[in-house]
Amino acid sequence: MDCKRHTIQQQLIFNALEELNIHATAEQVFDYVVQRYPSISKATVYRNLNHMSEAGDLLKIGSFCGSTHYDHRRDKHQHFICKDCNRIIDVEGDFIHICSEIKDAGKFDINNFEIYFFGQCMDCKSK
Ligand SMILES: [Zn+2]
Ligand SMILES: [Zn+2]
Repeated sequence: MDCKRHTIQQQLIFNALEELNIHATAEQVFDYVVQRYPSISKATVYRNLNHMSEAGDLLKIGSFCGSTHYDHRRDKHQHFICKDCNRIIDVEGDFIHICSEIKDAGKFDINNFEIYFFGQCMDCKSK
């Protein structure tokens, strides 16, 4: 992230996402940032998260269980969501062939995609 064009608040929010590394919700980001920067308000954190995702500084990922999650990683990757513990785990892999298959069917011209995988993570499975 280019520090120069960002405010201190935005830098703190980005660092929080990176350090938490759990695809945190706005609530979790706020709880983390406020410990280091007690004067920050919840509204500021929420507003900046929106602004930063619109600017492409971070990734907004789908709403699961009513909360929107954010990701500091901006490189292409997909997500797995555990139906038991609600953990969101990064999935690496090249799924571009799915796009070409759909494209070959002649219905759409696809230029981007998001895939969510749902199931049970290994920790929950071994319980
Ligand atoms: Zn799990
Ligand atoms: Zn991710």
